[in-house]
Amino acid sequence: MSLNKEYIKKNFKQKLTSMFAEDINELNKYQYFEALSSVIKDYISKCVKNTNKYYLKSKQKQVYYFSMEFLIGRLLESNLINLGIRDICKDALSELGINLDEVLQAESDAGLGNGGLGRLAACFLDSMASIGIPGHGCGIRYKYGLFEQKIKNGYQVEVPDNWLKNGYVWETRKSEKSVIVKFGGDVQLINENGKLKAIHQNYEPILAVPYDIPVVGYKNNIVNNLRLWSAETIDKDFDFSSFSNGDYLKAVEYKYSVESITQVLYPDDSTEKGKLLRLKQEYFFVSAGLQSIIRRYEKMKLSLDSLDKYIAIHINDTHPSVAIAELMRILIDEKSMSWDEAWRITTNITAYTNHTILTEALEKWPVDMFKKLLPRIYMIIEEINRRFCAKVFDKFNGDLNKVNKMSIISNNNINMAYLSIVGSHSVNGVAKLHTRILKKQELKDFFEFYPDKFNNKTNGITHRRWLIQSNPKLTDLINELIGEKWIKHPLELKNLEGFSNDKSIQDKFQHVKYQNKINLSNFIKQKYNIDVDPDSIFDVQAKRLHAYKRQVLNILNILDLYNRLIENPNLDIIPRTFIFGAKASPGYFLAKQIIKLINSAADKINNDRSIKDKIKVVFLENYDVSLAQKLIPAADISEQISTASKEASGTGNMKFMMNGAITIATLDGANIEIKDAVGNDNIIIFGLTANEVIDLYKNKNYHSRDIFNSDQRVNKILTQLTNGFLGVSNYEFNSIYDNLLFNNDEYFVLKDFAPYVEAQNRINNLYRDKNKWNKMSILNIANSGVFSSDNTITKYANEIWHINKIDFNNKLLEEN
Ligand SMILES: *Cc1c(COP(=O)(O)O)cnc(C)c1O
Repeated sequence: MSLNKEYIKKNFKQKLTSMFAEDINELNKYQYFEALSSVIKDYISKCVKNTNKYYLKSKQKQVYYFSMEFLIGRLLESNLINLGIRDICKDALSELGINLDEVLQAESDAGLGNGGLGRLAACFLDSMASIGIPGHGCGIRYKYGLFEQKIKNGYQVEVPDNWLKNGYVWETRKSEKSVIVKFGGDVQLINENGKLKAIHQNYEPILAVPYDIPVVGYKNNIVNNLRLWSAETIDKDFDFSSFSNGDYLKAVEYKYSVESITQVLYPDDSTEKGKLLRLKQEYFFVSAGLQSIIRRYEKMKLSLDSLDKYIAIHINDTHPSVAIAELMRILIDEKSMSWDEAWRITTNITAYTNHTILTEALEKWPVDMFKKLLPRIYMIIEEINRRFCAKVFDKFNGDLNKVNKMSIISNNNINMAYLSIVGSHSVNGVAKLHTRILKKQELKDFFEFYPDKFNNKTNGITHRRWLIQSNPKLTDLINELIGEKWIKHPLELKNLEGFSNDKSIQDKFQHVKYQNKINLSNFIKQKYNIDVDPDSIFDVQAKRLHAYKRQVLNILNILDLYNRLIENPNLDIIPRTFIFGAKASPGYFLAKQIIKLINSAADKINNDRSIKDKIKVVFLENYDVSLAQKLIPAADISEQISTASKEASGTGNMKFMMNGAITIATLDGANIEIKDAVGNDNIIIFGLTANEVIDLYKNKNYHSRDIFNSDQRVNKILTQLTNGFLGVSNYEFNSIYDNLLFNNDEYFVLKDFAPYVEAQNRINNLYRDKNKWNKMSILNIANSGVFSSDNTITKYANEIWHINKIDFNNKLLEEN
C-alpha cells in the first residue's frame, strides 16, 4: 500500500462519509481536519504494529522518557512531513477544492506543557523516532492543558484550555492496558521466612488508563509511542450501593476527586508549589508507567535480573523522580528481589536531567505530606537515604557536616534532586555553562562524591518542526542550494557557508525573510489591527514571562528609545517593531504586571503620531507552539537576555538562530554555544557574565539605586513608570518599580541596562549594511545544525542509554 494521491483522495472521501454522513460541501474545516487525520492515523497504526512487533522480536533495548510535560503542539502537518506526503496531500485536497493549509490550522494545540522543558520532551520524541532510537514518552493526559491567554485592557486573563472538547484524533485509549495505582493506607513489615515483607493495606486504588499517541519518524517507517495516563475510578469501587443509601452525591464527588488527579496541568514555570495534588500527579503517572514497562518486559520472557540490559528510564527534571523508589518497590515487594540487586538494577536503568538552578524551582516535599500519601515509597526513600548517608560518612572521614548537607531528607523535607542523583547512573546538565555551575557550585558535594555521574548534554530542537515545517520558503531555498541531505544530516547545513558572501544569494535569503515578515504583518493587522512595516527590524522576545528572563530590560530600552524619539523625532534609526509573546504564571503577580507594562507602553508608543511610526510594540497573546512557528521565521532579532547563570540552556534561542535571526544575548545557557558556533562577529553579546553575577551575589556589593541616581535615562524611565506617563495610575507599576529599586534588582536589570542599550545601537548600525546583515543571517542558519535534537539524542543514546540506532527500513524489507 503506498500513500499516493489517489489513496488519500479515496480514503478521505470515504472517511468524510463514514464520520459525518453528509455531502463534502456541507462540512467545515475542522471536519476535514478530523477526516484527513483519521486517514493518516489508520496508516500510521499499521506502522505502530510493525514497529512494536520488531521491537518485541528483536528484544531491542528501549528507553522511556518520563516527563510531566509534553508540549507537542499540532500533529497533522508534522506527521505528513515525516511520512513524506505533505505535498501529495496538498494536491489531493486541492483536487477536491480544499486548501490543506486551512485544514491544518483547524487542529488545536496539544499544550501539555509550560515552555522549554515540555517542548524539549516533544523535540526529543521526534528525534528518537527519526533517527531510529526505540524511545517512548510517558506522561499525563491532562484534561486541560496550559491555559489560553487573553489580553484584556492590557492585562493577562486566563481561560481554561479545553483541548479535548471535540475529542483527539491522534490518541488511542487502551483500557485493557490499565493498571492500578495505590495511594495512602498503611504499611506493615512482617517477617516471612526470615525476610521482611511489606504489607500495604487500606490504600485507595486509582485506575490509570493509558492513551497512546503515535510518534512518527522521518521517512523511516518507525513509529514510537507517547503514552499518557488518565485517572479514573475503578468501576466496582464506584460504589453504587451508596446510591441506594442516599449517598449518591458522595459517589459522584468521589469520582470527581479521582479524576481531578489528571484534570489540569500546573501552570507554574520554574516554580515549585509543593502541593499535594502535584505529588499525586507525579506518583500517578510514574507508577503507571513503570508497571506497564515491567508488564511488557515480562511478555518477552526475560529474567528480571537483566532488566537493565533492555530498559533505560530517563527522568526529565525531578518531577518523575519518585520513579527511583517506585521501581525499587516493584522489584522488592512485588518481584521478591533483594535490596542490593534491586538497587543495582534501578540505578543502572535511571538517568536524570537537571533543568534549573533556580532555588524556587527545586522540588522538596514535606515529609508528613509525603509519608501520608505514599507510605511505602517513603520507607524506601528513608532506606535509600540511610545507606547513602553511611557512604558519605565513610568517604568524608566522618564529616557529619557533609552528611547533613547531602542528606536526601533534612529539615522535614525530601529533596528530590538529591534523590535523583543518588538513584541514577547519569546526571546531566543542559548546556556547558549550566553543567559547569552544577559541578562547581549547586551540586558540588555530589560531584565530588560521584564525579563520573555528571555530564553535559546541550539541549536541541527538531529541525523538522522548527525549520522544514515552520519555514517552508527557507527550506526550499536551502534545498535549492545544497540539496536535501541536511534533512537527515543537519550538520550538513554547514555547506551554506560557502554562499554567505554571494550577493545574489544573500538577496534570496533576504527575500525569504521579507516574505515571512509580510505574513506575520498580515496576521498582526488582521488580529490586532496594528500596522507594522515589514521593512522595519522585527525584534522578538518570545518565551515564558519570568523576572530572570528580563522582559523588563527589553521594555526599558524601548522606553529609552521612545524618550529619545520624543526629544528628536528625526533621530536616525532604522524603524523597529518590537514583538513580545509571553504567558505569565497565573499566581505570579510581578510577571503579570510586566505584561501590563508592555501593553501600556505599546498603547502609548503605537498611538504617538509624533514619532512617525519609527517604533512599534506588539504583544501577541497566547504564545504557544503554533504561534512560535508563525513568529520565529519572521524574526530579524532574537532576544536572549536572561541574567547570566539563570537560563540553564534555552531552546528558543536555537529556533531563532536556525531561522536566520541575529541573536542579542548575554553569555548564558546555550547562548554561549551559539556564539561559539557562529563566531563573535555573528552574534551581539552584552552584559554581565555568569561569574560576575555569581560574585555580585556573593559580595553583596550591588546597589541598584546607585544606577538610578547616576544614569539620567534610567531615572527618567523609572519615574515615568510612576507618574502617569503611560496612561495608568501612578501606582500601577509599583511592583516593578519596587523590585528594581527597593528589592535591589535581583536580576541586575539596571546593571545591564547601559550595555544593552549600547548593544541595541550596534544592531541598528549593523542592519544598515544589508550585505553584512544577510551574511550574518546565512552564517547563523549554516551553523545551527549542531543544535538539532538529532545530535543531542544521538549523544543521550550513546553516552547515557547505551542504545544503538536501528535501520528499520531494511529490517522491514527483510520481514516482508
Ligand atoms: C521553544 C519554546 C519555549 C522555550 O523558549 P525559551 O526561550 O527557551 O524559554 C517556550 N514556549 C514555546 C511555545 C516554545 O516553542
